[in-house]
Amino acid sequence: MLENKKIEKIVGVKGMNDILPADAPLWELFENTVQSVLKSYGFQQIRTPVVEPTNLFSRGLGEVTDIVEKEMYSFEDSMNGDKLTLRPENTAGVVRAAIEHNLVYDGPKRLWYNGQMFRHEKPQRGRYREFHQVGAEALGFSGPDIDAELIVMCQRLWDDLGLQNVRLELNSIGDAQERNLHRADLIAYFEQHMDLLDAEAQRRLHTNPLRILDTKNPAMQAMVNNAPKLLDYLGTESKSHFEGVQKILRDNSIVFTINPRLVRGMDYYNRTVFEWVTDELGAQGTVCAGGRYDSLFAIFGGKATPACGFAMGVERILELMKSSGEAHSPSQCDVYLVHQGQDAQSQSFILGERLRDAGLDVVLHCASASGAGSFKSQMKKADGSGAAYAVIIGEDEAAGNTVTIKAMRADDMENNQVNVPFETAVNYLVDQMTGATDSDDCCDDPNHIHIHH
Ligand code: ATP
Ligand code: MG
Repeated sequence: MLENKKIEKIVGVKGMNDILPADAPLWELFENTVQSVLKSYGFQQIRTPVVEPTNLFSRGLGEVTDIVEKEMYSFEDSMNGDKLTLRPENTAGVVRAAIEHNLVYDGPKRLWYNGQMFRHEKPQRGRYREFHQVGAEALGFSGPDIDAELIVMCQRLWDDLGLQNVRLELNSIGDAQERNLHRADLIAYFEQHMDLLDAEAQRRLHTNPLRILDTKNPAMQAMVNNAPKLLDYLGTESKSHFEGVQKILRDNSIVFTINPRLVRGMDYYNRTVFEWVTDELGAQGTVCAGGRYDSLFAIFGGKATPACGFAMGVERILELMKSSGEAHSPSQCDVYLVHQGQDAQSQSFILGERLRDAGLDVVLHCASASGAGSFKSQMKKADGSGAAYAVIIGEDEAAGNTVTIKAMRADDMENNQVNVPFETAVNYLVDQMTGATDSDDCCDDPNHIHIHH
């Protein structure tokens, strides 16, 4: 019999998070800020599918990268045998779409995206199996000015989000030929220190030796610090590109350090690479990473097109926002409707629609099977909602065609209540809200639809 059996609860997938309503204001604040900053630089949004052909990533990111080797959610579509992957990053998808739709035919494009990414990693703070990235991809630009613009734009975003403890690390990894020269010397150097290389590094020695420089193994730090530096192998053009980026950053007072060991996890990068890092998030300290990828279009079979971009880890940035105190919970609504009795309920419903027509956010108290509940319990809900006003329609108000309006945040709690005719309630509230906006603390919130007319 059913009642004797304990029904097992179904829980979400490990490493994939629910974003609950309590966190929604923080996400909205972040997303609105991102949107307005990117728009102020002329970036346009692009949305591509979460699922892409698997070879997009194996070809684009490189077979011997962390992501392709061990982090991808890949599967075969059982309906038709297609090999598919949940996107682990979105530069590949954006470039695929740009080629497919010939987006750069009439000149360069500044694009940005926001969305879920999937990587099969060990879940921990700041590292999830489903996470979000906001990224920008500037397609068709070859000069150092766009590299610098992307970085300056990030700085503006940190400023607007109130983040102070992120710093910029910068490097140039040159072009393929310069990397090959360096690579030969690097392998020779590592071969002289075989006893110090861990298993991972030994495995990478001939496939992706540059990545060994990125090791987090403390026992290898001194050895990798003394390894040949790619910066010393840059030719004239790569060098002047790198200097061009640095000049614009200095002109715009962007503080950075050059980290000669900074390389990126994906194969498609060349020349400028950068990371924004913080000490506040433990081992998961990189909040945003990017660089130039002039060869990716050609790798995907498109016309050679220079490009540069970045991706930021949204969850990590939100954690920084929380600790910097930027997080706050704005009110759920402007007006909370309290009512008692059948006629009052009908009038509240109608008034709610009229208030929304006038641009206000309104929560109507909804009845349960046992009725709407006492005034006292409804007023508690009104208070908890953060509403500036409660509109009360009781049996007397319903009969007399009036409403009682109570200011929930008034200084003078003695005289905070008025009774007005039902027909004037909307105008009264709009006037009050418009006049009250200066001292209304919800108005720092960019999500809030202001009712200035
Ligand atoms: P890490 O060295 O931390 O593994 P990564 O080099 O793999 O980072 P990128 O592929 O450059 O990361 O992705 C850009 C940003 O996306 C990272 O700097 C980070 O903020 C975020 N990110 C990457 N992987 C995850 C993840 N599994 N969970 C949450 N955020 C992530
Ligand atoms: Mg990683």
